[in-house]
Amino acid sequence: MSEDFYSALGVSRDADEDEIKRAYRKKAAEYHPDVSDDPDAEEKFKTVQKAKEVLLDDEKRQMYDQMGHDRFEEADKRGATDAGRGGGMGGGGMGGMNDIFEQFFGGGGSRSRNGPRQGSDLKTRLRIDLEDAYEGVTKQLTITRPERCPDCDGAGHPPDADSRTCSACNGQGQQTTVQQTPLGRVQQTQTCSQCGGEGTIYSETCSTCRGDGQVRNEATLQVEVPGGIRSGQTLRMDGEGAPGENGGPNGDLLVEIQIEEHELFERDGDDLRLRHPISFPQAVFGDTVEIETLDGSVEMDVPAGTQSGETFRLRGKGMPRLRRRGHGDLYVQVRIVTPDSLNDEQREALEAFAEAGGEEIDVEKGFFEKLKRSF
Ligand code: ZN
Repeated sequence: MSEDFYSALGVSRDADEDEIKRAYRKKAAEYHPDVSDDPDAEEKFKTVQKAKEVLLDDEKRQMYDQMGHDRFEEADKRGATDAGRGGGMGGGGMGGMNDIFEQFFGGGGSRSRNGPRQGSDLKTRLRIDLEDAYEGVTKQLTITRPERCPDCDGAGHPPDADSRTCSACNGQGQQTTVQQTPLGRVQQTQTCSQCGGEGTIYSETCSTCRGDGQVRNEATLQVEVPGGIRSGQTLRMDGEGAPGENGGPNGDLLVEIQIEEHELFERDGDDLRLRHPISFPQAVFGDTVEIETLDGSVEMDVPAGTQSGETFRLRGKGMPRLRRRGHGDLYVQVRIVTPDSLNDEQREALEAFAEAGGEEIDVEKGFFEKLKRSF
């Protein structure tokens, strides 16, 4: 027999405590084994007793309504319906009934979801050029971000709105559903859709934020970018993130720096790399050349006999070290530039140069054309 407890007592599903007690007294008298002639009296008496016991216990009644008669009885046989109150099967078992109690009824009564919570961190990017990364710079940054609603101060409702406990979740702020699947019972706890997790329903919502407590606003901030910053590094701006909830602090704003490619300098950590063209005679005889740096131009000695592709280091002419003293270095790679046109005088001089070195070059025609093409 799997008679529903409500019909066993002859009451409706929304019967209150008094109705249940009255119905129980009547049925108990009717089915008491000492007085009844009904052959199933003992069985019916037990059912009526159990129906009263379950339906007069708020927690059990809620569970019974949620699970249905058969599944409740099955769980009850394992002792699981009492597990949440310290008795019963303990933490093991099959169905996780302890969890059901904790999720349904708030476990130890923790309501921390209604306590102060820090707002979330927000992220944005800021593009700067290498000169700014070298010097350090203060940049203006405009972002659109959530801010506490100024009209309701984040509450989501006017201060004088009437409030009542959310009936969908009994003020718990979350709802648990239990579903039977081929793999067993699956329970899900979700933020209550009626009250949004607050446990309270208000008679009015704030018209400015539609109850969110937050509005999206444009904010312009000054970002201090320190010299020496690298691409991909993040600056944290305390308290400039999303607003906290229930009086919690704001989150932070994380600004990821992106440094644009420079047309001359290539960055390698705190060092910089630069290519600098020199002529064949400069490479042969040596010379002093002017080199551009991010801090103005400097002179560099190219020694006699320099090969194309040789690299020279200019100490301390690289990027500043972030939040430390000193700078990296600037590496200058020299490239010997082959002329793509010569005047007669240069051509004669070069031919004489080749001849003097014992080289036999067919310079009749097209020599310089070929040279040009092969590069
Ligand atoms: Zn508002």
